[in-house]
Amino acid sequence: GDFPIETDTIVIGAGPGGYVAAIRAAQLGQKVTIVEKGNLGGVCLNVGCIPSKALISASHRYDEAKNSSDIGINAENVTLDFSKVQEWKSGVVNKLTGGVEGLLKGNKVDIVQGEAYFVDENSVRVMDDNSAQTYTFKNAIIATGSRPVEIPGFTYSKRVIDSTGALNLDELPKKLVVVGGGYIGVELGTAYANFGTEVTIIEGMKEILGGFEKQMTALVKRNLKKKNVSVVTNASAKGVEETDDGVKVTYEAKGEEHTIEADYVLVTVGRKPNTDELGLEQVGIKVNDQGLIEVDKQLRTNIPNIFAIGDIVDGPKLAHKASYEGKIAAEVISGHSSEIDYLGIPAVVFSEPELASVGYTEKQAKEEGIDIAVGRFPFAANGRALALNATDGFVKLITRKEDGLVIGGQVAGASASDMIAEIGLAIEAGMTAEDIAMTIHAHPTLGEITMEAAEVALGTPIHIV
Ligand code: FAD
Repeated sequence: GDFPIETDTIVIGAGPGGYVAAIRAAQLGQKVTIVEKGNLGGVCLNVGCIPSKALISASHRYDEAKNSSDIGINAENVTLDFSKVQEWKSGVVNKLTGGVEGLLKGNKVDIVQGEAYFVDENSVRVMDDNSAQTYTFKNAIIATGSRPVEIPGFTYSKRVIDSTGALNLDELPKKLVVVGGGYIGVELGTAYANFGTEVTIIEGMKEILGGFEKQMTALVKRNLKKKNVSVVTNASAKGVEETDDGVKVTYEAKGEEHTIEADYVLVTVGRKPNTDELGLEQVGIKVNDQGLIEVDKQLRTNIPNIFAIGDIVDGPKLAHKASYEGKIAAEVISGHSSEIDYLGIPAVVFSEPELASVGYTEKQAKEEGIDIAVGRFPFAANGRALALNATDGFVKLITRKEDGLVIGGQVAGASASDMIAEIGLAIEAGMTAEDIAMTIHAHPTLGEITMEAAEVALGTPIHIV
C-alpha cells in the first residue's frame, strides 16, 4: 500500500484546458497537481493546432515560391525536402511543449506522469507503467480531451490514417483521399495539395466546412479547385481495401458507387470525448449519450467539487474554448463567482483564404428576431490587400440596429484568423460600430477593412459607394 499524497486541486490532462486551469489555480493560491498520461500540451500542441499550422504555413510558402509569376516572380528548381519540413515542425512542437513544462514548474504546479482513475469523490489513482499512487484532493478539474472517431469500413492502419497519422507522414503521398470536409480535413487537404499531392475530399453533407456561411465557403472551394483538389459533396464513404502500396476507397454519390486509388486515406469525421476510462461511474459523474460530461455555467459536474472543461463538455471542440473554460473553473474553485459566456468565442479555419467567425451571424441574428445593421467591406477595396496580392474575401460586421452594438462578425481572407480578434474584443467590451469606426487604424493595413465595415454599418463608408 502507498501513502496518499494530498493536494488542493488535481487537474487531469495537460492539454490547453488542463495546463491553463492548473496555472490559473496556482496563481490564485491553490496547491495544484496536474496528471498527464501522454505529452504536456495535449492534442493541440502535439498532434493538433500547432503541427497542422506549421505544415500549412510551410506548404503555403512552397506554393507561393512556385506560383508567383503573376506578380513577376519566376523561381526555378524550387524543391521540397519533406523530411526537413517534418523535422522543423517537430522542433516547433518541442519548443512549445517544453515551454508548457517551464510554465507549470514556474507556477509551482506538481507534474505527475501517469493515467488517472477516480476512486471516489476525493481521490484518484495514478498508474504509470508499474507504479501506482493515490492522490487525495479538495477539488478536481477533468480535462482529458478527445480522440478521433472511427467509422465503419475504415479501421485505422498504416494507410488508413487519422489526423495524427496525416501530420506525421514521413513521405509525401502522391495521392491522398480525405474523408470528411470539416476544418481538419480541409486544412490538411490544402497543406498536402500545396506540397503537390493529388487530393480528393469526400464530404457527406452538401457543403464542406458546414457551419460557415456559403459566401465564405465558396471562396475556399474556388481556391481548392485552383489547386486541383476534387471536392465531392453529398457523398458517403463506404469502405477501403488495402493494397500492397496503397488503398482503394469506395464511396457512393448520386446513387452511384465510385472507387479511387490513393496512397493513404485520411479519415477525419469527428472526435469523441475521453470519458470512458476514467472511473466516472465510481463517483457517479453524469455523462450524456455522446459521452460528454454534463456541467453547469461554472463548469461544475453534478459532483460539487469536480469540474470538467474542454473537449469533454458541450460546445465547439477548440483549444481556446478549453483554455477559457480552464480559467473559469480555476477561478470558481478559488472562490470567485465567474461563469462562462460563449458569445465571444471565435471559430477559425486555416484554409485558403482563412475563415473566421465570432458572435452572431446574420442568419442567427435574424432567427432570434434581432433587428440588425450589417456592414460588409471587401478585401479588394483595401490598399494593403491589393499590395499583398490577397484580394479574396471580406469583413462583415453584425450590429444591433437600435444602438450599433457589435454582436458578431465574420472575416474571410488573408489573416482572418488574426483580424477576428478585434471583433471579439468589441463584443466582449460592449463596443459599438462607431467605436470601431472612430478607432484610428494604421494605413495601409488589413485592419482598415474592419474599420470600413463599421462605417458601412453606420451608412458612411469612405472607400466604397
Ligand atoms: P486535449 O488537448 O485532448 O488534452 C487532453 C489530455 O489529457 C491529453 O494530453 C491526454 O493524454 C490526457 N489524458 C486523457 N486521459 C487521461 C487520464 N485518464 N489521465 C491522465 N491524462 C489523461 N483547435 C483550435 O482551437 N485551433 C486549431 O487550429 C485546431 N487545430 C486542430 C487540428 C487537429 C488536427 C486536431 C486533431 C485538433 C485541432 N484543434 C484545434 C482542436 C484542439 O486540439 C482541441 O480542442 C484541444 O486540444 C482540446 O483541449 P483539451 O484540453 O480539452 O484536451
